[in-house]
Amino acid sequence: MKVADLEFEPLIKAGDIEKRVKEIGIQLNEDYGNSHPVFVGVLNGSFLFVADLIKQIDIPCEVTFTKLASYYGGTSSTRKIRDDIDFIVDIKGRDVLIIEDIVDTGNTARYLLDKLKAQNPASIKLCSLLLKPAALENKIDELKYVGFEIPNHFVVGYGLDYKEMGRNLRDIYKKV
Ligand code: 5GP
Repeated sequence: MKVADLEFEPLIKAGDIEKRVKEIGIQLNEDYGNSHPVFVGVLNGSFLFVADLIKQIDIPCEVTFTKLASYYGGTSSTRKIRDDIDFIVDIKGRDVLIIEDIVDTGNTARYLLDKLKAQNPASIKLCSLLLKPAALENKIDELKYVGFEIPNHFVVGYGLDYKEMGRNLRDIYKKV
């Protein structure tokens, strides 16, 4: 399957994503009980994951978004993070869960966790649909929920893009 100028092959099927999202939702309902958490989605890549995950949540919660970019349309991290939407919700004393599409080097996650920690939330944790353990360069103790651990492939689909294409795909694909 072609996305822009690159060839991709299936990695994770839509049905498996759906099943895993449901499991994470059950876990979050249990872990956050009545604490009225704030879920912070990281745009653009997490938009489908956040939408599907939030539908599984049946405790009182808030949902907001921030926007960061580190890939700039390529297939490997630039290690530079661009802050596109500043964070305006008051999270002081709140239980915060950041929702990411993918943790690769962990630079983006580390940056956002440290930035939000400075606002003194009661707790802050991270949930990522995908994790590339072999690419991780940062220690991220806050990463409590992971959908799938994947090898060090460049992936698209289910919100993730290549040159802004492929976000609409229901399955997740890896670069051939
Ligand atoms: P990190 O800062 O952990 O290296 O990278 C995090 C961000 O880079 C993710 O939120 C995502 O936007 C992008 N990214 C990392 N790996 C991939 C990948 O395999 N495919 C796509 N499309 N984006 C990725």
